[in-house]
Amino acid sequence: MKVKLSQDVLQANEAIAEVNAARLREAGVFAVDMMSSPGSGKTTILERTIDDLSDRLEIAVIVGDVSTTRDAERIEEAGADAVQINTGGACHLDANMIRDVLDDMELAGYDVLFIENIGNLVCPAGYVLGEAERVMVLSTPEGTDKPAKYPAMFRTCSVALLNKIDLSEALGVDDQEFVEEIGMVNPHMKVMSVSALTGEGMEEWYDWLQDGVNSMRK
Ligand code: MG
Ligand code: ZN
Repeated sequence: MKVKLSQDVLQANEAIAEVNAARLREAGVFAVDMMSSPGSGKTTILERTIDDLSDRLEIAVIVGDVSTTRDAERIEEAGADAVQINTGGACHLDANMIRDVLDDMELAGYDVLFIENIGNLVCPAGYVLGEAERVMVLSTPEGTDKPAKYPAMFRTCSVALLNKIDLSEALGVDDQEFVEEIGMVNPHMKVMSVSALTGEGMEEWYDWLQDGVNSMRK
């Protein structure tokens, strides 16, 4: 019975996510679900992205956290509109939470909507939200074994941002090893090596975002 219940929950979630996706498409908004473990640098990547692209793209961010509004404050300081969802303990966002937020947003005014998911490499992969693309952030201090240990997350995302490559030398890790480990789990994944701190590699990410935005324009 437990299995059935959880499938019902996932099916209900998918139905709501489809409605969210249709609304976002209709408004011409490119929505990206950002997933990772805690501390990989999602918010820092978003801060830098907003800083670098806000002159050409209108960006909004829905920030999911178990508690606090710290990340939403950082996003607003970087210059984008932010809505914080506090899940009160839940370890992932679901489509219903996103629907409630979309109800209060003027979607047509945005080019990109980032959804910063709860830091967790397991269950966010099971919950579609209405996003056009799923991106995961893996940072070099987490180690090269993460793709093999959390394959569902890596298989469900189309892009991996390998972040904190400015630390690779000090950590004694080879970025190419991450690329190979990711490739073994998901050969179709596009891996972009970046440092949100120094800005290295971010242009490729910006080009990918711009392509996504262009694909939503009618
Ligand atoms: Mg964050
Ligand atoms: Zn969860």
